Amino acid sequence: MERHDPECIFCRIIAGDIPSDRVYENDTVVAFRDIQPVAPTHILIVPRAHVPSVSGLEDADTVIAGALLLAARDIAASEGLEPNGYRVVSNVGDWAGQTVYHLHIHILGGRQLGPMG
Ligand code: 5GP
Ligand code: ZN
Repeated sequence: MERHDPECIFCRIIAGDIPSDRVYENDTVVAFRDIQPVAPTHILIVPRAHVPSVSGLEDADTVIAGALLLAARDIAASEGLEPNGYRVVSNVGDWAGQTVYHLHIHILGGRQLGPMG
C-alpha cells in the first residue's frame, strides 16, 4: 500500500508543506486543530502513514490503530476535556460524510454535544 500521497492535504500538513495548528505529535501520529471547528475544541488526529480510512487499515496496523486512541486520550486530558467528557469519531465513506480520505479521528469537546446521527 502506498503510504504517502503527495496530493493528499493531510499528507501535506504532516510534511509541513501546509501550515496547521499542531497540538501533538509522536512517531506514529500528528494532531492539529480543525480549520472549521464545530465545537470549542475540535482536533484531528492522523497517522503519519497515508491510510485512506478505518476501512483501509491493515491487520498489521495495530500500532497505528492504538496510537490514534492513545493520542486521543492524552490530547483530551491536555485540552481539559476530561471532567465533562468529549467525543472521538471517525467518518468512513460517503454516508458518514468523509471529505478527506486520509484516516483521521475527530476529538470534539468543550460543549454539550447532541446525539449522533
Ligand atoms: P471528515 O469530513 O473527512 O470527517 O473531516 C475532515 C475535516 O478536515 C473537516 O472537519 C475539515 O474542516 C478538516 N479540514 C479540511 N481541510 C483542512 C485543512 O487544510 N486544515 C485543517 N486544519 N483542517 C482541515
Ligand atoms: Zn494522506
